[in-house]
Amino acid sequence: MTLESLKHCFTCKKKLGEKVNIYMYKSLAFCGVKCRKKEIDKDEEEDKKQHVKILGEATVLHHQS
Ligand SMILES: [Zn+2]
Repeated sequence: MTLESLKHCFTCKKKLGEKVNIYMYKSLAFCGVKCRKKEIDKDEEEDKKQHVKILGEATVLHHQS
């Protein structure tokens, strides 16, 4: 992660100047809460998928025993 990545919004790629507020999430830069939320939502979706996968595997194991 370099400072270069903090010059543009991670979501909409808008240029982030020195005078605008930069919103941080997991060392990524965003131009606003809406853009940051998109990344947070994406993470939460991934989390849900992981849970489903783990539960699915547990179910398979249960049926085998
Ligand atoms: Zn943005």
